Amino acid sequence: MTRSTSVLLAALTLTACAVVSAASELSIEGRPVQGGLIFGRTSPNATVTLDGQTVMVSDQGRFVIGFGRDEQGTRTLRIEHDGELLEQEWAVQARDYRIERVDGLPPATVTPDASVQQRIRDEQALVVQARSRRDSRTDYTHGFIWPAQGRLSGFYGSQRILNGQPRRPHYGLDIAAPTGTPVVAPAAGIITLTHPNMFYSGGTIILDHGHGLSSTFLHLSAIEVEAGTRVEQGQLIGRIGATGRATGPHLDWRMNWLNRRVDPQPLLAPPSDQSSIQPSRQSLGQSPGQSPNKSPGQ
Ligand SMILES: [Zn+2]
Repeated sequence: MTRSTSVLLAALTLTACAVVSAASELSIEGRPVQGGLIFGRTSPNATVTLDGQTVMVSDQGRFVIGFGRDEQGTRTLRIEHDGELLEQEWAVQARDYRIERVDGLPPATVTPDASVQQRIRDEQALVVQARSRRDSRTDYTHGFIWPAQGRLSGFYGSQRILNGQPRRPHYGLDIAAPTGTPVVAPAAGIITLTHPNMFYSGGTIILDHGHGLSSTFLHLSAIEVEAGTRVEQGQLIGRIGATGRATGPHLDWRMNWLNRRVDPQPLLAPPSDQSSIQPSRQSLGQSPGQSPNKSPGQ
C-alpha cells in the first residue's frame, strides 16, 4: 500500500466515524404522530431545524417538537453540529379520532350571541399572548404526571357534536372529578395566565414548560397560583370545577407546542397506574411518605 492510499483510507475512516458519532448524538423519545410530541437530545450547541424553521435547543442539547391534530406529510429534521449534518425524514402518522356528542349545554354557549363576541375575542387575545412565550427553560425534560385523578371523559382530537351541531374538534384531555378536586402542575414551569372566568373555559390557567410548550387548564372552580410565579411539578395550582362551557365538573387539560395543539395523554402512564405516580418532591430527595403533596384526586 502506498503512503497516499493509506492516508486516504484513514481519512475515509475518520469521516465514517464522524458521521456515526453525529448520528449517535441524536436520541429521541416519542413518535411523529398527529398530536404527538418528540423529545430530542443532541449535541450542545447543535443547530436544529424542522422544515427549515429553527427549533430551540438548550445548552444540554434538549429540544421538543410537536405535531398538530391534522398534520400530514413528511417533516424534515436537520441537525448541524461542528460542520456535520444529520438529516431525518419523519412521515407524520395519521390517527383516528372519536366522535363525541355533548348534549345539554346551555344554547348560548354553543352559539354565542353577538353581544359576547367581543368578550370572546378579548379573552382569546390574552390566551394567544400567554402562549407566545419562547423561554429557554426546559422544564418539560423531567416528564409529566397526571394533573388530577378522575374518570377520563373526553379525548384529544375528538370531533364534537354539541347539542346536535357539529363544532370544532376537542383539543383537551378531560378528567371528570368532583368540584374542588385538586389540580397539580403536571410538570414545572411559569404561570403565564390566570383568569377567573373566561366565556368558554371558565377559570383558566396557562403554565409554560419552556421552549414554547405549555399546558392550559380549563373550567377551574378555584385558582391557587398567581401569574408570573414559578411552580414545581406536583404543586397545587387550582381546583376542578364546571365554569365556562361545561356540563359538569371536570378538568380540561390542553397542551400547545408553538401554534400547534398537541395531546397530553401519550406523556402519561395509563390511568390505572395513577396511584403509583409519586409526587415530584420525591425527586428532590424526600421520601414519598414525607411529601406534603397528596395524590391528585384526594
Ligand atoms: Zn374538554
